Amino acid sequence: MKYIGAHVSAAGGVENAPLNAQKIGATGFALFTKNQKQWVAKELTDENIRLFKENMLKGGFSPEGILPHDSYLINLGHPEEEKRQKSLTAFIDEVKRVEQLGLKYLNFHPGSHLKQISEEECLSHIAASLNAAIGATDNCIMVIETTAGQGSNLGWRFEQIADIIDQVEDKSRVAVCIDTCHIFAAGYDITTKEGYDRVMADFDAIIGLEYLKAFHLNDAKSGFGSHVDRHHSLGQGNIGWDAFRFIMEDPRHDGIPMILETIEPDIWSEEIAKLKEFAGLRI
Ligand SMILES: [Zn+2]
Ligand SMILES: [Zn+2]
Repeated sequence: MKYIGAHVSAAGGVENAPLNAQKIGATGFALFTKNQKQWVAKELTDENIRLFKENMLKGGFSPEGILPHDSYLINLGHPEEEKRQKSLTAFIDEVKRVEQLGLKYLNFHPGSHLKQISEEECLSHIAASLNAAIGATDNCIMVIETTAGQGSNLGWRFEQIADIIDQVEDKSRVAVCIDTCHIFAAGYDITTKEGYDRVMADFDAIIGLEYLKAFHLNDAKSGFGSHVDRHHSLGQGNIGWDAFRFIMEDPRHDGIPMILETIEPDIWSEEIAKLKEFAGLRI
């Protein structure tokens, strides 16, 4: 069983996300629990929370299949203390929203050194931010997303992610999300079966497959090893359908969210149907 869906709109209220996911035949989904381009958001109301949970049940969704994504403004590794603190405050607020909604995960981009501090220092800041967020919240698992390594973004090499996890005290509260477009742009080739097997073996050796708790399934407009983050619809970019079949057929990835962030929402239902077919689910 795999939870397959897309990053759907929560416009008009978080409670609309499960309804939007249901419409495209999804069994899981991603959402922003607040406007992702603003620092401060209105608190979720009891009504938002009640309706969200009601619509989750209506759509047959389980918290295991839902992968909320944090705001793009947050940089837990920011070189400047004050700005890092601002990010941490916003991040903790996002974790609390996830917990209020009865969900399990919060997916986030690790952070950027902005060419002002070393990679090591930035990774330590990210881990310290996570330790603080874990201390301030109850049970949400913070899911580190692999990046393309665009600009000064860290988290594009598996070693960098392992370095963060090493420094997190409560390891039951961290996990990793592989974004297929990002790892491809970062130089991990999953387009052939040999390549895919090698990348999974590397992930297991460096990070540990037990930490792999989600996928973002995106094809890439950007080239292999280009460090450019440009998503494409499945099968239309430089990755191609085979990689998505390898992932869906792999039983090691059962029970986790598989989320499309592809560029044409109009064909999400077709992409989901094809992924379900690869995973051997009835469509
Ligand atoms: Zn992301
Ligand atoms: Zn991306």
